Amino acid sequence: MTDSSIRVHREPAPRALVVGLGISGTASALALHRAGWEPVIIERAPQRRRGGYFMAIFGAGRYAAQDLGVGDRLANHRSPEPTTYTIDRTGHRRPGLGFGDLPINPYLTMRDDVEEAIYDTLREQAPDVSIRFGTTPRAISQDADGVDVTLTGPDGTTTERFDLVVGADGIHSQVRRLVFAPDSEAIDRMGTMICAFALTDDLPTLPQGMGARLLEPNRAFHVFPFDDRPSTVLFSYGTDDVKAEKRVPVAARLREVYGHDAELGPVLEAAITQLEDGRPALFDAVEQVHLPSWHRGRVVLVGDSAWCPSLYSGMGATSGLAGANLLGLRLAEHPGDVSAALDGWERTLRPHIREYQKMGVDARSFFTPATGQELRAGERRMRLQTAPITSWVFARLLPLLPVMRKREVHLV
Ligand SMILES: Cc1cc2nc3c(=O)[nH]c(=O)nc-3n(C[C@H](O)[C@H](O)[C@H](O)COP(=O)(O)OP(=O)(O)OC[C@H]3O[C@@H](n4cnc5c(N)ncnc54)[C@H](O)[C@@H]3O)c2cc1C
Repeated sequence: MTDSSIRVHREPAPRALVVGLGISGTASALALHRAGWEPVIIERAPQRRRGGYFMAIFGAGRYAAQDLGVGDRLANHRSPEPTTYTIDRTGHRRPGLGFGDLPINPYLTMRDDVEEAIYDTLREQAPDVSIRFGTTPRAISQDADGVDVTLTGPDGTTTERFDLVVGADGIHSQVRRLVFAPDSEAIDRMGTMICAFALTDDLPTLPQGMGARLLEPNRAFHVFPFDDRPSTVLFSYGTDDVKAEKRVPVAARLREVYGHDAELGPVLEAAITQLEDGRPALFDAVEQVHLPSWHRGRVVLVGDSAWCPSLYSGMGATSGLAGANLLGLRLAEHPGDVSAALDGWERTLRPHIREYQKMGVDARSFFTPATGQELRAGERRMRLQTAPITSWVFARLLPLLPVMRKREVHLV
């Protein structure tokens, strides 16, 4: 046989539809591309979203970002000397603790910074990946060899065939509804509402870089500080009726919940006024997603759509990054065998996600103590952790605690 008779036969790259251009979807597209797949991304919004809220990225997420080549793009806006106070309605301050005081050093950043870091990496590594905005899946059907997805976008409705569909379309996932389960079976409500937004101006008594927690039974207010930009804030309060919460505009609802029995005081008043001035805000119920399996045939869910652990866990974005990275690694290990790849992926990931979801349930009382008793127990812990002698012990003890170590495990 002569050289000229050798034919190089290259299989075309398998095609994957990734639904959602959030952290999990963008990271999944990047991971699939690195695994030799051709991802196509669809996003319901007409363009990339901006803005967001405070976010801590723990070791498990940072390792995944490193594997994906995101590298130094992942920003850390942690103050060199973080200070978070416990405050009351008058603004009076006592020593407190925030994410910045954790001795395991999570990166403190914003959701849009994380999204941008992954998006820029995707654009650099895979400039040809197609992103179709204003597009959503309407129907999904599959056989052993592929998935037919009916897509509705700006140019109408079409049906296309893919080798894999990744549903990374968030907690209210359409892919989950179409292929896995209705929301009523998948979503567990945690009995609280949150409103989160980025401030434009510092709040009274809280200059840039200074965080705060104002805790009362069943309602709380948190200020998450950064070293180089205004803080973001989080209102979090208990509710029995999530549907009723959205019947009035969010600022009016916060005035009712926080002001019906007490003066708002200068800090809450200033925060709500910034919201009334038109700050874009997230106002939603706090929920977790529980499914018996995250993959069915050639359709897989990644991130909040599959396992949302809730913001109280501090692990939603971290787990989205880790889950996406691991998906790419398993697909690369099993070329041509999607089923083996997805089985292996879920087997590795599920025990970690179970822990993250438990952290979400356990940490509710840190963010929103439900009763006076929970509030007092939290205050006692806080006093111990901030007192001069015992704080030294806690700083050395905390990194050894299982709940901290589990956040730092590299999932591969
Ligand atoms: C206030 C707050 C604080 C948080 N703090 C932390 C923290 O400290 N650490 C942490 O790790 N996590 C934190 N989280 C959780 C974290 O923000 C989420 O877990 C993470 O952003 C989820 O990313 P995702 O890509 O899975 O979903 P999403 O961010 O919801 O993205 C889904 C994407 O899919 C798109 N989409 C939706 N439906 C469709 C459709 N039908 N068709 C096409 N596209 C669609 C959406 O427009 C969006 O772009 C916090 C969350 C909140 C609300």
